Amino acid sequence: MPKQTNFFTKHLMEWTAANPRPLPWKATQNAYHIWLSEIILQQTRVEQGTPYYHKFINAYPSITDLANAPADEVMRLWEGLGYYSRARNLHAAAKYVADELNGIFPSTHEEIKKLKGVGPYTAAAIASFAYNLPYSVVDGNVYRVLSRFFGIETPIDTTIGKKEFAQLAQEALHKKDPATYNQAIMNFGALQCKPANPLCEVCPLQKKCVAFKTDKIGLLPIKSKKIKRTERFFNYLLIQPLKKENQVFISKRLAKDIWQNLYEFPLIETKELLTQQELLAHPSFNLLINNTSKIKQVQSSKSYKQQLTHQKINAQFFVITLPQKYISASATKQWQLITKKEMDNYAFPRIVNSFLENQHTSGNKQLLLNL
Ligand code: SF4
Repeated sequence: MPKQTNFFTKHLMEWTAANPRPLPWKATQNAYHIWLSEIILQQTRVEQGTPYYHKFINAYPSITDLANAPADEVMRLWEGLGYYSRARNLHAAAKYVADELNGIFPSTHEEIKKLKGVGPYTAAAIASFAYNLPYSVVDGNVYRVLSRFFGIETPIDTTIGKKEFAQLAQEALHKKDPATYNQAIMNFGALQCKPANPLCEVCPLQKKCVAFKTDKIGLLPIKSKKIKRTERFFNYLLIQPLKKENQVFISKRLAKDIWQNLYEFPLIETKELLTQQELLAHPSFNLLINNTSKIKQVQSSKSYKQQLTHQKINAQFFVITLPQKYISASATKQWQLITKKEMDNYAFPRIVNSFLENQHTSGNKQLLLNL
């Protein structure tokens, strides 16, 4: 194996020299900036993540600035990137560095790993990119490149597989220039050894690539289990009190669930999307509205969909107008009544934003949402 590893590393380093990929955070050794970019890129493509990286750096030039920012402001800045636990962890880690480490970003692999939201991959990336420490990254790209080139059929989502790939990645690491090597293998996976249609014909590793020689490119890497996806149905209530038509109730998602700490409209989750009639008769709805006969108007939107990693969300929006006194007091206590202008101060999930955007572009013709 060492011979094959040497060949792999040598040609990968040559490939990256010939195929540079300049990224804004590669020109810096500022560990705070590198950490920020790595957290953003955990589940986001470079093209989508880059504007967010700049937004954060501009809003919070130092990690202490980020630590001191209000949580809602951080979530608002993150809005649209998804996987919101990243933003919560980012904020918590910044506070930890500001409070416990005098605002100085940790400089050892061990210390970096202690930050909230930093797993083995991110710790290795920061350690190598910011401090040139010899830790190899292992992400989806790396699994694919290694499994194909070395012909490894151990499933990548098993403990034994993870260990095997981590060892191999560490063996193949260019110890003198881990930063360049780590960037190279990820770029190689993204640009050359792509999931579908890899560019094998013009690949510098082709000569010794096991998957290429044995025709197993489409099979590798192997996963043992398929992701189980659940489907959920959200009925959102846009409740506009009569005589306050430019205002609507919103509520904060506090439960340990998707979109924690984001805002949305009052929600009734069901096994299927409800019709207007079903909504009016639904027990949860009747707990919120004291007297449904006083409702002046209900209108429902088309259904919206959002695919998350493990969940498919279906949402429908009901615009409801009625005098405020018929809304139960216990419900309004948990909600906030805000105007359209104030909406910009809150972070909403993408599915809610899609609905709102549609409202603006359709000129409110579909629904009487007077915002
Ligand atoms: S030959 Fe094809 S499968 Fe093998 S490393 Fe190159 S691009 Fe990937």
